[in-house]
Order: sequence, then structure tokens, then C-alpha cells
Amino acid sequence: MSRSAHPAGPRHADVLPEGHYSAPAADLNALDEKVWSRTVTRDADGALTVGGIAVARLAEEFGTPAYFLDESDFRARCRAWADAFGPDADVFYAGKAFLSRAVVRWLTEEGLNLDVCSGGELTTALDAGMPAERIAFHGNNKTVAEIERAVGAGVGRIVLDSFQEIVRVAHIAQRHGIRQRVQIRVTVGVEAHTHEFIATAHEDQKFGIALADGQAAEAVRRALSLDGLDLIGVHSHIGSQIFDMAGFEVSARRVVQLLAEVRDEHGVELPEIDLGGGLGIAYTSDDDPREPHEIAKALSDIVTRECEAAKLRTPRISVEPGRAIVGPTAFTLYEVGTIKPLEGLRTYVSVDGGMSDNIRTALYDAEYSVALVSRTSDAEPMLVRVVGKHCESGDIVVKDAFLPADLAPGDLIAVPATGAYCRSMASNYNHALRPPVVAVRDGEARVIVRRETEEDLLRLDVG
Ligand SMILES: *Cc1c(COP(=O)(O)O)cnc(C)c1O
Repeated sequence: MSRSAHPAGPRHADVLPEGHYSAPAADLNALDEKVWSRTVTRDADGALTVGGIAVARLAEEFGTPAYFLDESDFRARCRAWADAFGPDADVFYAGKAFLSRAVVRWLTEEGLNLDVCSGGELTTALDAGMPAERIAFHGNNKTVAEIERAVGAGVGRIVLDSFQEIVRVAHIAQRHGIRQRVQIRVTVGVEAHTHEFIATAHEDQKFGIALADGQAAEAVRRALSLDGLDLIGVHSHIGSQIFDMAGFEVSARRVVQLLAEVRDEHGVELPEIDLGGGLGIAYTSDDDPREPHEIAKALSDIVTRECEAAKLRTPRISVEPGRAIVGPTAFTLYEVGTIKPLEGLRTYVSVDGGMSDNIRTALYDAEYSVALVSRTSDAEPMLVRVVGKHCESGDIVVKDAFLPADLAPGDLIAVPATGAYCRSMASNYNHALRPPVVAVRDGEARVIVRRETEEDLLRLDVG
């Protein structure tokens, strides 16, 4: 198809419609290393390559849309987190961000632990050989069957989320003749998202047991009284895509206060605290995430300081990054289809996927960036909205971004930082076939989750 089959779209200089976007980058061909995985670069022809393989070849072999996961980057991030926290702390990868058997093997090899929150995630973890004692089981409504399986498998910890669950897990553990290691998830009254955190009034949600009103202290009392439970500590998870450590500061202080109360009341120093996940990544050039070693130092300083003040032995810390490990390691590759310039507004660029492979923009108003990756272009920047092919006007992948004005159907564009909560939240809306996840490393690409087929759809539809 001709590269100029459509009239030129509105230029950024002509119109500034409503939206949240910065000025276009000086060079639209430049790849900001903050948002792309580590082995991504452009080859001599200008095509993007990952793990040494050009996207045109990847598109030809695996089709589009598809997620390409940079395995060496994933492993490097695992090591960076493990090294930063060192031997006196534990890093649990939050499997809900993205889990597959290959990922479980990488985590096992790189020495990380794993959070699961459903029977399906537990099955995947165990099947791929994650030792059960390195698995933590989460969730606000674990079924009795799930608890049975987790206890039976010997998971390292179950994070208790309600008074009813304290009793349920204790009974099941007793029936299995074991003392199940557990933590109690508390809500500390802090909610953090991106650059803001709110330190009060966030008990009104489904997770955890509130510190306020002595609820959490009562939960500890009950857990300590039950033979089936070995209470190892307290857990707090305050939000997602957090850059500001102030929320963790408040959370750690309140959790340590609870540990001090427990010591005073029961004469027991609980040995562990889990500060959860939620650490932010760069989706666009405007985001400035911290490195794991900075995060580790900040958290350990906070906990040490609070424990000294409370005259407590410093507990072992665990953290649960999901997004911060897998998010930056993958991009979604799309083929450009229909291009629709709306005069005075922006140009709508339709791709061959959409909200079925990335629901985050529709769900959370998430921001992403996008680049033309099958070639470079010297054309001027055009304000675009990248949309999918679904029957829903909220089917937006990238709300506001700039692409070269000579963009044409058949071009490949890529959305970086889609490793977390994209494939794991993918749907079959409009009977879309969920895209594959292809791991790329050292010049080799292999499918780790295959593309869904129409036969898969028909197999589930039993008539
Ligand atoms: C979702 C979740 C995480 C991971 O959050 P990220 O934002 O992916 O780091 C960690 N712990 C718990 C309990 C969670 O629910």
C-alpha cells in the first residue's frame, strides 16, 4: 500500500486538543532506554531488534499482535532485585503480573520466590518446578479447595486475608497434621498510586484486615491461639505503580507499631514483615522509576529506624515486585491497519489488537508510549491515538502519542513496557485470539505461550 494513502493528519503545531501528552520527542526514531527492554536497539536499516532479531522477522514468524519478552532482561532484573535485597530479605515475584512455565523456571533459576493468588497460578508454579516452600499464596477469597491444595503442596506461606480465613486455614492445616506458616495481611490506611499517596481513609476496600480499631491485633491474637498456624509475620501491600517512597514509610511505621504491640501483649517478636509490591516502571519518558538497590536501601532504612525506635529486633523483610520485574521486559508488536485523521483533533491509528491484549488503558487510564519500529522516518510528528479493532469506543491502547506523519497501513508499531498485566489480563472479547508471548534471547526466539486459535475457541464452546 502507498505510504501516503491518507491525507496528512493534524500536526502538533496546528492543534492542541485535550489530552495528556508532552511535546513530541526531538527524534521520533530514538528509543528511550527507560521504556524499552535492555536488548532493544535499531539495526542499520532502522528496524527495531530485540535479542538480536529484527521485528520484521519476528512478525513474519510469529504474526501480530504478539508480545515479545526479552529473556535476558527479565533474568537481569530478577538478579538485580535479589542482589539489592541480599541474603537477609526475600524477593517474591508477583505472578499475577505475568506467569508461564518458562517464567517460573527463570525465577527458580535466578533464586526468586513466587506469589500466586489462584489455583491456576499455583498449578503453573508447581508444574514448572518452583519448590513449594518458595511459594506464597495470596487472595481475599481463596476457596477451600485452593487452600487444601496449597497446604497439601506445602507452600511456604499463606497470606491470611480475613477472620474467616484464619479459621479455615487453621482447620485445614490441622487436618493435614501440619502447622502452616502464615502471615496476616493488614490494611495500614495508606493507598499509593504513582506520585501520590493518601494516608487515611483507605480501609474501605476488600483486602486485608484493618489496623484501625484493633482489628489486626485481634487477628494476630486469634492466629497465635490456633495450633494449625505458625504466624511468621505481617503483610502490607499499599498500591501500584508507586514512585514515591512516602507511602512505604507510613506503611512500614504502622506495621512495626503492630509488631511492637504484639510483643508487648504476647511476648512474641514476629520474625518477618512483607511490604508488598507496587513499585513503578517507566511507561513513558515522563516516568522516573528507582533502581532496585535504591528501593532496597530506602525500605531497609525505614524498617531499621522504626524497629530501633520500638526496641524491636529488625524483622526479615520481603517484597513482592511484579510489574517492576516483568513490565519493562516486553513490548507488544502490532500491524497498523486503518488510519483515520480527524481534522483539528488527532489521527486514529487502528491496530490488529486492542483492549483484548491491553485492557490497562481502558481500565485505569494507563499511559503508554508507542514507536514506529519496522523502519525509521524523517516525517514530522503527528498526534495519534492508537486504538484497537474491538466494538467499543473505549478500546484505546495509547491515548496520546506522536508517530511520524507518513505512517501507513502495514507498518509495524510497538508499545513498550507491556510485560505486566497485559497478557495476564487479556480477554477473548469479540472472540479475539489472545496473542502469543515469544521469549527472545541471544538471537533465538521461542514461543512460551502460544497464540490462541479458532479451534481453541470452538473447543470451549461445547454447543
Ligand atoms: C499485585 C500485588 C503485588 C504486585 O504488584 P506490582 O504492582 O505488580 O508490583 C504484590 N503483592 C500483592 C499482595 C499484590 O496484590
